[in-house]
This record gives sequence, C-alpha cells and structure tokens, in this order.
Amino acid sequence: MTQKRIAIFGSTGSIGTQALDVIASNPDKFTAEILTAQTNDELLVKQALQFNPNCVVIGDERKYQSVKQALASTDVKVFAGEQALEEVAAMDCYDMMLAAIVGYAGLKPTLQALSNSKPIALANKETLVVAGDIVMQKALEKRIPVIPVDSEHSAIFQCLVGEGRNKIEKIILTASGGPFLGKKPNFLVNVKRDHALQHPNWSMGAKITIDSATLMNKGLEMIEAKWLFNLQPDQIQVVVHPQSIIHSMVQFEDGSIKAQMGLPDMKLPIQYAMAFPQRIANDFPRYDFRKPNTLTFEEPDLKTFRNLALAIEALHKGGNMPCIMNAANEIAVYAFLRNRIGFLDITEMVEQTMNKVSFIEKPTLEEYFESDAEARNFAASLIQM
Ligand code: NAD
Ligand code: MG
Repeated sequence: MTQKRIAIFGSTGSIGTQALDVIASNPDKFTAEILTAQTNDELLVKQALQFNPNCVVIGDERKYQSVKQALASTDVKVFAGEQALEEVAAMDCYDMMLAAIVGYAGLKPTLQALSNSKPIALANKETLVVAGDIVMQKALEKRIPVIPVDSEHSAIFQCLVGEGRNKIEKIILTASGGPFLGKKPNFLVNVKRDHALQHPNWSMGAKITIDSATLMNKGLEMIEAKWLFNLQPDQIQVVVHPQSIIHSMVQFEDGSIKAQMGLPDMKLPIQYAMAFPQRIANDFPRYDFRKPNTLTFEEPDLKTFRNLALAIEALHKGGNMPCIMNAANEIAVYAFLRNRIGFLDITEMVEQTMNKVSFIEKPTLEEYFESDAEARNFAASLIQM
C-alpha cells in the first residue's frame, strides 16, 4: 500500500484524535496533511508539531495569531475561519478526507472535497442527514467513494464486501440503547447533563453522546444508511443490543444474515475506512467467545424515546424534513448541554420545529441551507420563551 495522505477535518475531536493515533501507529501507511479544529488551538498546535502537516485551520479567527506564532518555526501553513475549511478542502495535498467535524458544519467542506475528487472517510453523519441526495449524487458523478466510519455503517459496508449486485432485503442497525435504556418519561424528565454524558459502551464527543441518550443518534443513522446504501425506509430496522458486540447486520434476499462483530472501539472502523480495501494488523483487545457472555436483542421503546419516532417520520417524509429535524436537534442538544432546557424538551423542540418550517419535497442545495437556518432560528426562539 502506498502512503496515503489524510486530511482530518475535526482533528481535535474524539474521532479526529483516534484517527491520529491510527496514523501514529502506521507511519508507513498514512501521513496527516491537513488538520482542523474549531476552538482547541492548544491541541491543534500540539498535533501540528507532532505530525508536521501541510496546513492547519483554526475555525475561531481570534485564535489565528496564537496558532501562527506557535508554529512560526515550522513550515506548516496556518489558516483561520469557516471559509478556510472549504479552501483547504480544495487543495491537492491530500488523498482522502476524514470528515470528523460534528454537525451541519461538516457539510460544505465535504462537498468541496467531493468536487475536488477526493475520497471521503465519513464520520460526520449529519452531512448525509442534511443533504444526502446531493452528497451521494456528487460522489456518483465523480465516481468517488464515500466510506463510512460510523461503526454501524462500517459493519454494513464490511458485510457487503464481495456481495456484488446481490440485493439487500433489509439492514438491521444495532443500538446500545444508551445510558437510559429501560427508563420511562417520569425518570427522563429529571435527567441532567452530566448523567446523560455517561455512555455505557462508547467514549465520544458531547453532541453524539447526548444523541445516543435520546436515541436521536439511531434516527440520524437510519437516514445516513438510506443514503449510503441506497435503501428504502422500510428496509432499515433498528434493534437494541446493549452489549454493542454486533455492530450491525445485513439480511439478503435468501434470508441469510451477515453480521460484523468485535469489541466496541472506533479505531477499528476508522482504520478500516482509511485503509480500505486492506485490513491493518493491530493489537486492539479481541472479543473472547470462551468467556460467559450473553448477547441480547430487544425492540426500541419509541413511546419513551420519541426522538427516534420523529426521525423515522423524517426518514419516510424525505425532502428537507431530515435537514429541519437535524438543525432543531443541534440547537436543542447544545441548549441542553448548557443546562438551558431539560432532557425531554429536546424532543419537544425538534417536533415543534418539524411542524413549523415549510416542507420542500426536492430541495436544491441552497434550499437546504435556508431550511437549516430557518429551523435553527425557530428552535432558538423556543428557548427564549
Ligand atoms: P467531537 O465534538 O469530539 O469533535 C468535533 C470536531 O469538530 C472537533 O475537532 C471540533 O474542533 C470540530 N468542530 C466542532 N464544531 C465545528 C464547526 N462549527 N466548524 C468546524 N469544526 C468544528 O465530535 P466526535 O465525537 O469526534 O464526532 C465527530 C463526528 O463523527 C460527528 O458527526 C459524530 O456523529 C460522528 N461519529 C462519532 C463517533 C464517536 O465515537 N465519537 C462515532 C460515530 C460517528
Ligand atoms: Mg454509530
């Protein structure tokens, strides 16, 4: 395998830092050529000094000078601001983008990388939730692969390798159920930020950890799967599997089911996406079938975790509805993280916003941007009340 030059958008996050661990462990296979961060200038500088990329971007423009100064003795180029993310995505110095920015902010740089014919290792699921049709159409036109990093989608992707044109009957997305599995609304109404931030199986960024607690994460993943694997909504089933050993499954037309399994560790899907079609040897801990362990499966509780029901509604409705839902959810989750609203208010805000913002069946990219802005404004107005 020739050395692959990786551009990590969101290098200071949970996915970004784990990707850099993978690169550090495999210096013969990967280099880091672009690193970007929104606010954490100290970590960005540290990463740049260690990996010596072509360039870095700090989103927060007030931190430009301090990053520039800290890297003055190196030849690392320093850029700042939102627009710079798209500009560096258009550069030629890399072979693959790892899209690891959180939220809607990841959409434009990813579209730019596709325009630039760069393969994508996609962690940023919101990109496909917001504008999946446009993103996948662009990838198709350019004949550029979008390889999932999200563990469930990586599992499905791995199950599909070698299946050629064999039809999928359905996919089964597994969900851990999050920290509040089995709880009811009378419990959830009192849930506080710090409790919701404790996920039983995965250590992740704050936004996705809250999404996992509300099950919105699984809803976003259903929509992500629709676009990645070209599925109809009815072909996507969610099953709660609290042990997170089976990362997802594909059922084919003959009824045969393939599953991808292992201990939960995001480094595996990250390195799989970066090295595809090769697998890389590693010493990550292995799952041991000789130890007593029970794998269990149950239906998700859509009455309690209504976010998942709303996401299923958005999945069926299509158009700009997932984009509206995502925008409202981003506003609601950040409000919850700042202790401005309660846990169950997240669902209320998402539902009210979905009912308010005008529906467009086949939006243009510009209309997706507008729907996102409109939904954010409306959701934010609900907090001030
Ligand atoms: P995180 O919050 O830990 O990191 C986010 C990164 O994006 C940081 O580097 C941050 O600087 C950058 N960022 C944040 N806001 C930005 C903005 N407005 N503009 C530009 N950059 C910005 O998040 P994470 O947990 O690493 O998740 C990243 C993405 O991967 C999310 O879309 C998440 O859903 C997805 N994902 C994460 C995991 C996981 O285990 N963490 C698993 C599956 C999928
Ligand atoms: Mg996932």
